[in-house]
Amino acid sequence: MKKRVALRRAGLFGMLRAFRDAAMALPDGLVALDGERRIRWFNTAAGSMLNIQYPQDVGAALRDAVLIPGLDAWIGSGAAEPMADVTAPANAAIHLHLRLIPYAEDHALLLVRDISQARRVEKMRRDFVANVSHELRTPLTVVHGYLEMIEPEQIPEFETIIRELRSQSRRMTQIVEDLLTLSRLDAEEKLPKTRVAMVPMVVALQRDAEGLSQGRHTISTSIEGNADLQGSAKDLYSAFSNLVSNAVRYTPVGGLIRIVWHSDANGGQLRVTDTGHGIPEAHLPRLTERFYRVSTSRSRESGGTGLGLSIVKHVLQLHDAHLQIESEVGVGSTFTCVFGANRLLSPDSPDLPTEED
Ligand code: ADP
Repeated sequence: MKKRVALRRAGLFGMLRAFRDAAMALPDGLVALDGERRIRWFNTAAGSMLNIQYPQDVGAALRDAVLIPGLDAWIGSGAAEPMADVTAPANAAIHLHLRLIPYAEDHALLLVRDISQARRVEKMRRDFVANVSHELRTPLTVVHGYLEMIEPEQIPEFETIIRELRSQSRRMTQIVEDLLTLSRLDAEEKLPKTRVAMVPMVVALQRDAEGLSQGRHTISTSIEGNADLQGSAKDLYSAFSNLVSNAVRYTPVGGLIRIVWHSDANGGQLRVTDTGHGIPEAHLPRLTERFYRVSTSRSRESGGTGLGLSIVKHVLQLHDAHLQIESEVGVGSTFTCVFGANRLLSPDSPDLPTEED
């Protein structure tokens, strides 16, 4: 009996050792934490990525042993969402992704992944798009400039061709400009914290809609609540005017377009509603992807680049906001930019500098 127990114990120890060796060999970092979020155990990868040492740091509180700004607050808030991109404590060139996985009663496993390579590849992709767009800009300006100098009426036999060339070069220029805007937004980490006055914003959007529509639609606006936004006026204007331009372009003659800025204690919403073609539900989740269009021909005919909603999504992300889309085919669509209360500025809050442009 004693012998059998000893044999079982040896077997269990062997299994445990095998488990620990396997965890030690993982390329991802693992840190086992107790209910007080003290370090109980960690593997080699976690040691080098988080700059913690064996045996000194075993038993230490994670927040004391691992010097990552915001780590303590993240753990304290329950860490339901991962810490998406943090700099490794001992090496600023290494970027980490942290996840906290609860197990047993109140224990947790901290999973640490080195995302430096993925970030490098992503940066290469971004730089490539930015460089190509930049390189295309000058030759396109030249081609476009010469085409604008030719009067199609003076060469009747080429009139149709010249008009088509002009329209295509205009489209290419717009695509390049939109790609450059996206690259700039991609690279942007911090936004200016300026007051974005919403009354003039709505007035400017209405003017844009009227200019694009040329009297073919009824355009109305409304302002509910008196808060302004905090962020980049230029980028927010670019996002909102993309929604307004879409509403005009995808709404047949005689339709209605409504622009509403609503703010209350819960936050703010900029809504653009139209009575246009509408969008089949299956397309809604993919609309903000680059170059995604429901109908390529309709988008092209109306001068679209397929990048507008992508720009909207990026700008909103930079403002901790998101886009909501409701649409019904043949009835119309509502695009809503939803901002948290922390992004609102009441008229009497201390004034921030407004953006020059
Ligand atoms: P585009 O330049 O093609 O308009 P966007 O990124 O702005 O590109 O929009 C993506 C697609 O979403 C459009 O091609 C169109 O099919 C659809 N879409 C956007 N806004 C509307 C709208 N207000 N009504 C109907 N369809 C829309």
